[in-house]
Amino acid sequence: MSDNLKCHACGMAMVRDVRPNQVTYQGHAAEIEQPGWYCTSCDEVVLVGRDADVTEEAFVELKARVDGILPPSEVRRIRVKLGLSQRRASALLGGGPRSFQKYESGTDWITRSMANLLRLLDKDPARLQELIDPNAEPPPGPGRRRSTGPRRGEPRRAAG
Ligand SMILES: [Zn+2]
Repeated sequence: MSDNLKCHACGMAMVRDVRPNQVTYQGHAAEIEQPGWYCTSCDEVVLVGRDADVTEEAFVELKARVDGILPPSEVRRIRVKLGLSQRRASALLGGGPRSFQKYESGTDWITRSMANLLRLLDKDPARLQELIDPNAEPPPGPGRRRSTGPRRGEPRRAAG
């Protein structure tokens, strides 16, 4: 990127700077520190590279707060606190395959119901155990010790 960027609106020089700005959503506003190229003469701002990520992340956080859902950073924090991988969290809590990958990268909005579930688990992580399907991984217990012959799937060996 060139160091003497010219403003496409007025033709004057632009300078690299970080300035206070706002993102807004449904009448709510959040303050941000916006990096970018600022025109020395008019109000023109050009965002390059990761400059726009600052805006995007601030908007996502604001929207989550206004809509009463969880921003990606919170989804991730709670999932890690629960000791779940993204894949395991999706399988256990729902939302579809790779749902947590999408929530945490911001490509998909978390639903209100999922956000509420995570909030409850955040307060009481032990209750995660209640959601784990006992039929998914049968623990070896006294009630299941019925097999006397070869188990299904095991080849029968001929004696000799
Ligand atoms: Zn300008």
